[in-house]
Amino acid sequence: MSIDLEALYIDLHRHPELSFQETRTAGVIARELGVLGLEVVEGLGKTGVASAIRNGDGPVVWLRADMDALPVEEQTALAYASTARGIDPAGTDVPVMHACGHDMHVTAMLGALERLLATKDEWSGTVVAVFQPAEEYGAGAQAMIADGVLDRFPKPDIVLGQHLTPLPAGTIGVRPGTQMAASDGLTVRLLGRGGHGSRPHATIDPVVMAAATVMRLQTIVSREIDPREMAVVTVGAIHAGLKNNIIPAEATLELSLRYPDDDARADVMARVERVVRAEAQASGATEEPVISTLHSLPPTINDGDATARLVAAWERAFGEGSVVDPGMFTGSEDVSWFAREAGVPLVYWFWGGVDPERFADAYARGAINEEIPTNHSPFFAPVLHPTIERGVDALVVAAREFLA
Ligand SMILES: [Zn+2]
Ligand SMILES: [Zn+2]
Repeated sequence: MSIDLEALYIDLHRHPELSFQETRTAGVIARELGVLGLEVVEGLGKTGVASAIRNGDGPVVWLRADMDALPVEEQTALAYASTARGIDPAGTDVPVMHACGHDMHVTAMLGALERLLATKDEWSGTVVAVFQPAEEYGAGAQAMIADGVLDRFPKPDIVLGQHLTPLPAGTIGVRPGTQMAASDGLTVRLLGRGGHGSRPHATIDPVVMAAATVMRLQTIVSREIDPREMAVVTVGAIHAGLKNNIIPAEATLELSLRYPDDDARADVMARVERVVRAEAQASGATEEPVISTLHSLPPTINDGDATARLVAAWERAFGEGSVVDPGMFTGSEDVSWFAREAGVPLVYWFWGGVDPERFADAYARGAINEEIPTNHSPFFAPVLHPTIERGVDALVVAAREFLA
């Protein structure tokens, strides 16, 4: 008897759940783990699930799959397209879709566990399976760690994870070193002094302060960072004022920052803080701006030796040319908290879900960006096969490479 992975994927896809609300998903995972005869620990980091295959002495390999969906209205027209709705943290009723492929991550993980169980006499060691909530908030990994997942299961010797991406199905994308950028979300409160719009001299105008700050922040990447380095400083939100003839007392900016490593992070953060404080001073503010962190994601850095071993193992298993270097992604992930907290290496790779012929056709016409939907798109629709099989195989080959 084996898990019907296609049916499992379609069921998960039809029933997506927002971050930290993955209760049905966790229930499905717990049910399947139970069918496999594996231990189940639920409620880790609110809705996370973890399990282990304990198979004698040997290395401990952690496999991680995230399981949350996004507030996106699915437009794929697939027979199994989501029509689900959810309530977001602001209390708003929103459409929900597995637009990032986390349903595929869960499916591949359960398939891999079943295979590892069936081949137990070929390896020894321990496999810990981590089903993580709320990756899209960048909060689920830390929530599971805060709930003691690293104490309740054998500590990892290596952490492995995978993510679906718009590469041709069957292709794996991975690189040693920085695979995904670090990211911080900041809120900046600029404090002025409110008053009547006709009497600007009696106020400290936070709207002008905010405007000057936004413009000056643009010069960090364009004028201060070495052009050969990567950094992003985006001001994604600006809020101030309610009416034309009232100068408000404060303005709020929301920033998204990206960089390839911890040194660059410290460097960009210091520059942002300098600009924010200097512009407040230039405006004559009498109160310091308040900078607070919305979220902080470390860079996803692949261990060089472990990545080389996996590339070789996958090429042996899937053939020459099946693994490509996709370059560094400017998106961010929270998977590396598990490896950082345990002080062990991480390898995080991508695998493709696009029909290879469709991909080749779009590539030949230079139309990848226009025609191949990316993660978070309402049209994101991985082909089921061979995406499911390759996701299972990639995990199994990777786990086996580090097990005894
Ligand atoms: Zn995502
Ligand atoms: Zn994702």
